[in-house]
Amino acid sequence: MAELRVPQLRVLILGLAPAVAVVALLAAGGLIGIGPALTIVAAIVAGGWWIATRPPAAQGTDETEHIAAAPGLPEHLLDQLPDPVILLNDAREIVAINRQARDVLGIGATGRDLALSLRHPAVLAAVETVSSGVPSITEEITLPVPVPRSFTLHVGGLPGTAGTDAPGMVLVLHDETRAKRAEQSRADFVANVSHKLRSPLSAVIGFIETLLGHARDDAEARERFLGVMHSEAQRMSRLVNDLLSLARVETNEHVPPRGIVYLEDVFNGVADSLQVRAAEKDISIVVSCDPDLPPVIGEADQIVQVFQNLVDNAIKYGRADTEIRIEANAVGRMPGSDAAGVAASVTDQGEGIAAEHLPRLTERFYRVDEGRSRRLGGTGLGLAIVKHIVNRHRGQIRVDSEEGVGTTVTVFLPARPETDENGEDESEITRFSTGGDVTKA
Ligand code: ADP
Repeated sequence: MAELRVPQLRVLILGLAPAVAVVALLAAGGLIGIGPALTIVAAIVAGGWWIATRPPAAQGTDETEHIAAAPGLPEHLLDQLPDPVILLNDAREIVAINRQARDVLGIGATGRDLALSLRHPAVLAAVETVSSGVPSITEEITLPVPVPRSFTLHVGGLPGTAGTDAPGMVLVLHDETRAKRAEQSRADFVANVSHKLRSPLSAVIGFIETLLGHARDDAEARERFLGVMHSEAQRMSRLVNDLLSLARVETNEHVPPRGIVYLEDVFNGVADSLQVRAAEKDISIVVSCDPDLPPVIGEADQIVQVFQNLVDNAIKYGRADTEIRIEANAVGRMPGSDAAGVAASVTDQGEGIAAEHLPRLTERFYRVDEGRSRRLGGTGLGLAIVKHIVNRHRGQIRVDSEEGVGTTVTVFLPARPETDENGEDESEITRFSTGGDVTKA
């Protein structure tokens, strides 16, 4: 009698369960008798048993034949699994991949050597180890592009399939990126909060103690100290808000956005919301967009945050009685890629930034002049948040600045492709209304 191995048994049970359930329902509903129902179930199980235990097909001689052996594999079942799964034959060629492997790893074709599709030394080494007879191996790996992602890789041998076109090895990659990022960002958050809140908190506690002690009846001191306590408390609140924003952005940085955002709407909304602050310095905000500007692929509230932070800096560091320009133009190619995009920039007429600071501006808490940033209400996190959002959007940032003249920060974002191959666009449409809400159309 043919031997049925555990993996085959699982596939057999999963594959036959729906058919058996339908027959059972028909029998329960009286549409067929118990006897015929049992016969049908027995036939289905026998057929399934035969399929699961039949001897493997002979080795094909050319690649077409070779790939043609794969349709017998349960790809529809593999597609239901939440993790990327790759099945290899004994020649280490891919015989089946599921949808997650295609989406997450970008692997398109079966029939090719794994090394041509997934050129990661640790993956290939694990496959080598299992080929040499080790039953299975589990290890953590990081795939670097386009945004680093962490996986637990499990490679297991499927014994008894040597010399056949049947799968001889299964690779499962469980995505740990989100958990790892959440863990890292929690650790950073705790470290930053405890470090950065310590001095404003001690200042506030010191003022309270003074007011409770010798300055108890000093009206002038009370007025002054309450003012300082108020601004320190506001600074702590801004810091906590920015740290929370940063933690949220970092945790999801590996998940590409799927929305569609119209930048002109975003710019008008941001200009409206910051108009009052700009007017306090007699600064005017001018929005100017290419009339044929394509929408960008993005998450609207994050894109809004990018331009809010950039315009906020332009107001903080711009000279009084000047102009801030927010502009966007279509570009045929994004820097470092062939993809079409949009270059969106915020230009101020301000003090500018010396060249030696430019490479470090997007580091968290990096400030050219800490005292000045603090006085202006800065946290040192605005550009770090911008950088992580732009990374998530697979975009780029460029800062051009001339001391005494002003600064232009340009953000490149991928434009929405015209249509997909079916002539349809699958992205969610999101619009930013000038009232400040993000709405879905
Ligand atoms: P902050 O909250 O201190 O403004 P950011 O991360 O937004 O933090 O910016 C980091 C530093 O970069 C600022 O402290 C400032 O020194 C400098 N900077 C940012 N934008 C500008 C600008 N438009 N003009 C001049 N300096 C700028």
